[in-house]
Amino acid sequence: MGRFSGFKVTIGQVGKVVTTNYPEEKRPKPERFHGRHVLNRYEDGMEKCIGCELCAGVCPAKCIYVRGADNSVDAPVSPGERYGFVYEINYLRCIHCDLCVEACPTEAITETKLFEFSFANREDAIYTKAELLVDDDGRARRQPWELWLGNEDDHTSAWMRATSPGGSAAYEGRAGWSAELGFGVRQPEQGQLAEAGQSDLVPSRADDAPPHFDELGPDR
Ligand code: SF4
Ligand code: SF4
Repeated sequence: MGRFSGFKVTIGQVGKVVTTNYPEEKRPKPERFHGRHVLNRYEDGMEKCIGCELCAGVCPAKCIYVRGADNSVDAPVSPGERYGFVYEINYLRCIHCDLCVEACPTEAITETKLFEFSFANREDAIYTKAELLVDDDGRARRQPWELWLGNEDDHTSAWMRATSPGGSAAYEGRAGWSAELGFGVRQPEQGQLAEAGQSDLVPSRADDAPPHFDELGPDR
């Protein structure tokens, strides 16, 4: 009988649609999917990147090249003293680990759900700032060699805010980084409290800032 047990799996699939007409159709990707990056802007259009190079420093594939420059007093590009003058990502090297997103102090770099991009030459594979920076509507600038279906650039600035600093449940439901919204904001994930049926204990986004690290106690 043992030799036939494998057929149960096959027979169990009869009549079910288990394939999609890819690439015309794509399966929904998880919210935290790590796809092609974007460089975000604030709601007033200012760029979030301050040219600090932390993303380039942390990248294990060494595929980010950043050069910062001083903002001019009359026409600043970002709210800080400096901005990202040059920004490039080499997608022939990128492994989509998202360490650059974690490292960024201003949430300037995040990832979309777009993973269907194929290059015919090396030049296309190296994305420049002009290609990575979101447009005036906060949307990714779609390139001819990318296959976008639907709104795969929704919630691009959400990934990092959904992360609880230090893994502490005390941060659940709170914007863990800053109150600055930018484009693509979604409600924070509720995590452990919601799973435990205590979602009414989850604070809203409008609540005060997260507790200071020192207030979290030994289980932080
Ligand atoms: S996702 Fe990882 S490999 Fe790709 S640019 Fe960011 S840090 Fe580098
Ligand atoms: S994307 Fe973020 S980490 Fe990278 S240079 Fe700009 S501000 Fe710094």
